[in-house]
Amino acid sequence: MDYPQPWHSLARARIVSRAFDPLRRRGASLAHGLLPRCCALCSLPLDSPAERRLGWCHHCAASLPGADAARCPICAERVTNGPLPPGAALAPAPEPPCRACRNSPPPFERTVALADYAPPLDRMILALKFGHAVALAGPLGTALAARIDFPLDLVLPVPLSAPRLAERGFNQAWLIARALVAARRDAVPPGKWPTADARVLSRPRHDPPQSLQPLRTRAANLRDAFSCQRNLAGLRVAIVDDVMTSGATLAAAAAAARSAGAAFVANIVAARTPRA
Ligand SMILES: [Zn+2]
Ligand SMILES: [Zn+2]
Repeated sequence: MDYPQPWHSLARARIVSRAFDPLRRRGASLAHGLLPRCCALCSLPLDSPAERRLGWCHHCAASLPGADAARCPICAERVTNGPLPPGAALAPAPEPPCRACRNSPPPFERTVALADYAPPLDRMILALKFGHAVALAGPLGTALAARIDFPLDLVLPVPLSAPRLAERGFNQAWLIARALVAARRDAVPPGKWPTADARVLSRPRHDPPQSLQPLRTRAANLRDAFSCQRNLAGLRVAIVDDVMTSGATLAAAAAAARSAGAAFVANIVAARTPRA
């Protein structure tokens, strides 16, 4: 995992968990299989069936920081939009890749992110991970599914090492991946449904949390951190995580999928940490 903050110890997680009680209760009501009546972010009532399926209101969806920002299609880093030339079409053209991706292409083709890792989305992700508000993965997966404009065969969560999975009790990336695939089934015809599989990528090594590592050494630390248990020849694969910071974790997972033969690899993340 590639977290921007050192929320790593169990004691810290318990403190954070208590701080997210309201969101956890919201998550618990979602977990009972009922569509939510209130927005997961602002608690106001949800007006329409579409909002209730999504789990948050359209005001919050529209105000997520950086939700409409111009981003590099490859790494989802924000790029600066120059002013439109006079007479230009109103709809902006797709952004070209950022300079970093042009200079050193990563082992993935696309990154889809909902918004920046900033309030209130960061609060929601921390509540999911450390407040055990597991049902908050539903709104995140559903919103991400609506942003995918390319075909996919297989959706893979970034795996946790066995000790970390035992400590947390669940992998939030898997919960988001499952919700995403479920929502995607509403959007594409049968036969084009991707499947989610948590057993394809594994993480045999138990490394210290990436948040404790300097950004510049993360890629080296993660070399060969992941292994792929299945032949992915010719498949279009998405790798799901909650947050993308340096991109080192997702690049290492993508490299493993690529060595197993994947024809296309995209990252799908709830939040992208803006470059400092
Ligand atoms: Zn709201
Ligand atoms: Zn880029």
